[in-house]
Amino acid sequence: MLSFDPDKVILPTGNYIDGQFYPSQGETLVVKRPSDGRIYAELNEAQATDVDTAVQVAHRAAKASGWASCSPRERGRVLRRWAELIEQDAPLLGKLEAMGSTRPISDVINHEIPFTAEAIRFYAECADKYSSDLFPTQDNSLGMLLTEPFGVIGAITPWNFPLSMASWKCGPALAAGNAVVLKPSELTPFSTVRMAELAVQAGLPAGVLNIVQGRGAVTGSALVRHPLIRKVSFTGSTQTGAQIMSDAAQFGMKPVTLELGGKSPQVVFDDAGDIDELAGRILRGFTGNGGQACVAGTRLIVQRGIAGALTEKLISLCKTFRPGLTWDENTRYAPMIDARQGNKVASVVAAAKAAGAEVLVGGKRFADTGEGWFWQPTLLSGMAADNPAIQTEIFGPVLTIQQFDDEDEALAMAAHDTYGLCAGVHTLSLPRALRAVRQLAAGTVWVNRYGRSGDFIIPTGGFLGSGIGKDLGRQAFQACQQQKSVLIDF
Ligand code: NAD
Repeated sequence: MLSFDPDKVILPTGNYIDGQFYPSQGETLVVKRPSDGRIYAELNEAQATDVDTAVQVAHRAAKASGWASCSPRERGRVLRRWAELIEQDAPLLGKLEAMGSTRPISDVINHEIPFTAEAIRFYAECADKYSSDLFPTQDNSLGMLLTEPFGVIGAITPWNFPLSMASWKCGPALAAGNAVVLKPSELTPFSTVRMAELAVQAGLPAGVLNIVQGRGAVTGSALVRHPLIRKVSFTGSTQTGAQIMSDAAQFGMKPVTLELGGKSPQVVFDDAGDIDELAGRILRGFTGNGGQACVAGTRLIVQRGIAGALTEKLISLCKTFRPGLTWDENTRYAPMIDARQGNKVASVVAAAKAAGAEVLVGGKRFADTGEGWFWQPTLLSGMAADNPAIQTEIFGPVLTIQQFDDEDEALAMAAHDTYGLCAGVHTLSLPRALRAVRQLAAGTVWVNRYGRSGDFIIPTGGFLGSGIGKDLGRQAFQACQQQKSVLIDF
């Protein structure tokens, strides 16, 4: 029985600094439940002085607690224990996540929490599995590369997958011996605080992981600009990523990892196999989390021979979706995070129609959902390449459909001026798939599937405006260490 009463959940509100809840005197923000738009909490926004406290605490704790200098195996042990506690805490952590975010409780319990714990386990393993390099220098000297933590890493996460995003940031940063100050989205603040509490229970020294709450322009910006923040790891929109990169350059020349937006194509050739299975794959790719996923495959580029049959199948599947409260175990379809996001989807769809798009199904909000915003899965066709629905990251369950005749045309359509996060290729021809993989300008290409697996060894990150650097994989761990070249004369 996973359903729960959201009015009975006790919230770990506030900033979490030095292993304790820490009140701030900033402006009071209200926090709403996406499913019904109800205000369920207030949040005092951390000001620059509060952020300073958190960063100073982290800076001291990294050194004084021995976290940076202890044996990497010890760090791995703490992280493994943390992953266990996250799984054991699913009854509370799951409620916090499902109530405050767009993830239905069954999805949180079956996917989000296990994925979060597994990502942390992956980085627990990394902690002592990497050695540095010895260089072939002259006989009378020794050249080597040492790796060391940066110190304090500032992490900033979006609202669409609060728990797993926090694990992707904190896992590698902590495993590599850094301290972290993390700012979750002001729209989904609470599950991350609970995660930090569990980290301390697992043996992470107090102050090594701190959470500050507030909006980007106030709290987030103060974090990025703080002189003791030595690296910034950010996931969010391309626009915010650009601002953060500029701040990081001006306030200390800090390295950045930026995981940004996407507008990913799904290229379907007419030899792609069973049409029902294919339709299910395409559907999940753009409706998962209500389309509020950076990786959402929102541009269907389909060969003319199967376009009609695939479109018909997708239309009938789209009609089966029903809205539901995220705390109901039977809910499968996510709400929009808030009215602002819902209105954004509505405005891009309206602009797309004005520019000539035809709505094949959906195209509007579900009726009778009160203050909750649920957008109907939407298929658009008949668009020119410059249509707003093709150019803009909508961040809702909207799929554009374009048809092609040959491979060159398909790959030209798949290219995007702004984004290069992911791409899907669906074909049973291996040579064709490999040609497409080579040519697509995307940080991740999936062939005959669409979406991540639980293989955290595979890094993720974007080309073009979709970002810089990688989350996940060994790459994310290595990006949390700085490298020092050493040359010793005997
Ligand atoms: P957003 O950019 O509005 O906000 C993301 C985070 O940045 C929030 O915590 C916000 O408070 C903070 N922020 C905003 N302005 C800031 C500033 N000036 N300085 C510091 N921090 C600031 O994004 P969002 O609406 O929360 O999330 C949706 C976006 O995230 C989409 O574009 C989506 O594609 C992207 N995303 C990317 C990935 C990926 O891995 N590439 C994953 C998830 C989401």
